[in-house]
Amino acid sequence: MKNIPFNSPANNISLSYNLLKLKKYNHFSSNGIFTKQCEQWLRDNIKCKEALLVHSCTAALEMCAILLNIKKEDEVIMPSYTFVSTANAFVMRGGRPVFVDIDPTTCNIDSSKIEQAITKKTKAIVAVHYAGVSCDMDPIVAIARKYKLYIIEDAAQAILSSYKGKPLGSIGDLATISFHETKNIHCGEGGALIINNSKFIKRAKIIRDKGTNRDLFNQNMVKKYTWVDYGSSYGLSEINAAFLYSQLKQAKKITGKRLAIFKLYHKLLENLEIKKLITRPTIPTYAKANGHMYYILIKNNKRDKLIKHLQQKKINTVFHYIPLHSSPFGKLKATTKSTMHNTNRISNTLLRLPMHLRLNKKNIIRCTNELLNFFKN
Ligand SMILES: *Cc1c(COP(=O)(O)O)cnc(C)c1O
Repeated sequence: MKNIPFNSPANNISLSYNLLKLKKYNHFSSNGIFTKQCEQWLRDNIKCKEALLVHSCTAALEMCAILLNIKKEDEVIMPSYTFVSTANAFVMRGGRPVFVDIDPTTCNIDSSKIEQAITKKTKAIVAVHYAGVSCDMDPIVAIARKYKLYIIEDAAQAILSSYKGKPLGSIGDLATISFHETKNIHCGEGGALIINNSKFIKRAKIIRDKGTNRDLFNQNMVKKYTWVDYGSSYGLSEINAAFLYSQLKQAKKITGKRLAIFKLYHKLLENLEIKKLITRPTIPTYAKANGHMYYILIKNNKRDKLIKHLQQKKINTVFHYIPLHSSPFGKLKATTKSTMHNTNRISNTLLRLPMHLRLNKKNIIRCTNELLNFFKN
């Protein structure tokens, strides 16, 4: 019996062709031809004003904190049920994450709990689109307008997903995407900063380029380039960008395959939900998802046993996140503004099933049959 891994990064064939081209271009650091092609793809598909390739989604989040001039004690509202970088990017500039509970049907921030968390120090709301399923953006946009707050979409998992027909990443002032190998489209490590509020474009390019105006120099707009702002080495190497471009060109195909896997899991697990043994994910009618993950919620503290059972059958499953409000650094550096009832419950009951392009129908049936077997006993 073969092992069914939890993840297996997409790995396509046009890669070698792009690497040959890379050799011809003979430009390997950031901001070359492949970077420009990837950025054009992102602008076309996300319908944003600007897209800047960077070395990770974490880097893009750090750039957001710099662009918003986050300083000591500025507050940023976000869910606690997210990846550490969503919060750490702001903490690194002295800011304070303010955690709000999630809606258990989507695991996204509960927009009805945002308003009570707003203070005079609040600067922004981070909407994390968990599992590539959109947050309910209309109420979040309305609150941001009312209190003059910025919106950042952490769209790390959400490439090619949408909200009421709008691509995710196109709604916030800023948005961030991840091209880490655990995401749908990847280049090993990589990311993008997406900009919809055009006042951020010029400075974002400077911040990406170590705080220099080298971009203007490259366009012959200044005679010399020099240090003008905060910044770091946030760009993505052309080697990664060449890999990424070959993936982006197949992004719609990859998404279609993942959605088909999602659909099959969903059908095969329907009975377990009817018997109230598990809860399957919900995609709200306002959202079009991208098959980033398939998870189930397991009741009655059976998760550890189930993971062990599946492991014995050579099926790898994982859970996440340890909520940030209960992490050592989160307790020190963040504020928790509502009860974290749903966050705690989801964190204790969610299990992610294998999801990648090397899964065939037989593998998926093997996974769901083992789930059925487990619950039979
Ligand atoms: C993966 C992920 C990140 C970090 O992405 P990197 O590219 O690894 O830095 C941030 N936020 C969320 C929600 C993620 O899933």
